[in-house]
Amino acid sequence: MADSRCDVLIIGAGPSGIFTALELIRENSNKTITIVEQGKNIDRRSCPKNKTGKCVNCKPYCNITTGFSGAGAFSDGKLSLSPEVGGDLPELIGYDKVQELIDYTDGIYLDFGADKKIEGADSEDEKVKEIRRRAISAGLKLVDCPIRHLGTEKAHEVYSRIEKYLSDNGVNLLFDTSAGDLIIEDGVCRGANFINNKTGEEFVITAEKTVVAVGRVGADWLDDLCRRYGIKRRAGVVDIGVRVECRNEVMEEVNDVLYESKLIGYVPPYNDKVRTFCQNPGGFVAQENYEGGLAVVNGHSFKDKKSKNTNVAILSSHHFRVPFDRPIEYARKVGELTNMLGNGQILVQRFGDILEGKRTWEKELMRSNVRPTLPDAVAGDITAGMPYRPMSNIIGFIKAVDKVVPGFAGKETLLYSPEIKFYSNKVEIDENFQTSVKNLYTLGDGSGWTRGLMQASLMGVLTARNMFR
Ligand SMILES: Cc1cc2nc3c(=O)[nH]c(=O)nc-3n(C[C@H](O)[C@H](O)[C@H](O)COP(=O)(O)OP(=O)(O)OC[C@H]3O[C@@H](n4cnc5c(N)ncnc54)[C@H](O)[C@@H]3O)c2cc1C
Repeated sequence: MADSRCDVLIIGAGPSGIFTALELIRENSNKTITIVEQGKNIDRRSCPKNKTGKCVNCKPYCNITTGFSGAGAFSDGKLSLSPEVGGDLPELIGYDKVQELIDYTDGIYLDFGADKKIEGADSEDEKVKEIRRRAISAGLKLVDCPIRHLGTEKAHEVYSRIEKYLSDNGVNLLFDTSAGDLIIEDGVCRGANFINNKTGEEFVITAEKTVVAVGRVGADWLDDLCRRYGIKRRAGVVDIGVRVECRNEVMEEVNDVLYESKLIGYVPPYNDKVRTFCQNPGGFVAQENYEGGLAVVNGHSFKDKKSKNTNVAILSSHHFRVPFDRPIEYARKVGELTNMLGNGQILVQRFGDILEGKRTWEKELMRSNVRPTLPDAVAGDITAGMPYRPMSNIIGFIKAVDKVVPGFAGKETLLYSPEIKFYSNKVEIDENFQTSVKNLYTLGDGSGWTRGLMQASLMGVLTARNMFR
């Protein structure tokens, strides 16, 4: 492709990037927009594991995390409708503004076919009150968060319609193409250099405004650019944890009443923040791969196909500032060590074995009530790869949750590792989301400000509105 120019260049076709383009169109901005995405368009995205039953480590990029709609296409599609969940934007633009933008952005998802039903909305319900009472006595906070659940297969359909809409409205969508470097001259961003991953052809796109929306997969790349070009940033928090899986019978009450139980605790002796995240009733534990082959655990659920288990992440938050300020690298090392112990696969261990100080064996998993929904996870010892502090936080938290959900800390409860969230490099931005470099915007999970579909999407909406004001 020859060098070209546009008004708005968006790097990354995840929710934050595509909602920037959507809102520019909805505002009749008449701007020329190019979205460049290293992965595939949505209809060519498929995870071979559905056929092979085993992760084949797709090259050059994992189909779960890259391609149109980013990590959103195969995500569980749970839109969190509360500002308290999914990112730190209330710190920057205020709680009420975030709520107003959530309502607006949710309306766009509905326009593109999202399910109208909202789960877990009624905090005055006696059953919710009873769960909250138990949470309080266990020293945990229960966060109210209404959820619109798209479901993995429906999320795919919604984003597929959005892709068509963008293309029909003149957005230039370039797939299989990676950004290599930004063009920054005299403190102003003027575009970026690209390489076509299929042909190896290199080219430049210059633009009036450049939006970097590269998600967790691009967090390392963005961190590197910040350091090289002096784009102001600060080390954020890193979340290290496990994916917990129990039988649905154990989780039935919270699944029915809340769908997702968002619990937060500060576990002694460290008092680090520990929380539940991304609960999937009747769901499946999933694997996602990052650059360099790092295998990380996640979870999702389908609208129709259900398993006998519920999975939920438990994440322990950690800060690093002086003298070491590279939380992404720290978390990567923890992940690599755990992957090494699992011979490149996700490790799984029973909670009871952790308390008894022994590894789990495959045959022990086979005779349990709880059968792993990630079939290629390897039974072993996650405590050999997890540092003491997060491990101790996770154990303490699981015991506290057991008071809210009896049976959660059962002997057979499964813990998969590593579950890591790479949103730790926090780029400094103003209330219009512009960075310290003029005409450069960083959005979504890669910017360190969001952790979920809704806040990533609304960040795109607000950027589009403010960009040319
Ligand atoms: C399995 C799974 C389940 C999830 N479930 C939920 C859920 O239920 N609810 C929820 O709120 N969130 C969920 N999430 C998280 C959610 O998907 C993300 O928070 C959201 O997608 C972030 O949007 P984003 O635009 O910031 O980045 P992403 O969606 O990660 O998109 C970034 C895009 O940028 C591209 N890119 C990166 N680097 C480059 C480059 N150099 N050049 C070109 N392109 C590049 C990537 O290929 C990617 O497509 C889940 C994530 C996963 C993986």
